[in-house]
Amino acid sequence: MTIRAGNVRLEIAEKAFDDQVCPSCQKEFIIRSWKQLPGETKRNLSVISSTNFCRFCGLMLFQACGKCGEENFVHLPFCASCGEKTELLSA
Ligand SMILES: [Zn+2]
Ligand SMILES: [Zn+2]
Repeated sequence: MTIRAGNVRLEIAEKAFDDQVCPSCQKEFIIRSWKQLPGETKRNLSVISSTNFCRFCGLMLFQACGKCGEENFVHLPFCASCGEKTELLSA
């Protein structure tokens, strides 16, 4: 099931953000890599970054604030930096 960005309910968006998953398909939006350092027998897991769009369903996840440029999780209603309303929700 794919949800349009504007239809993501706030409590779902908050939970998805906390869990670092897409609010539509519930898959992780962070990209990890596994590195094996010289002299170590196990690979170390490290988080590289998050993606602006869900790589499983294409839903937009992060967008720069139109006012201050801060990258925000677009499914939460306000910019975490300046409080400007996130535009995508009303689109
Ligand atoms: Zn998704
Ligand atoms: Zn802002």
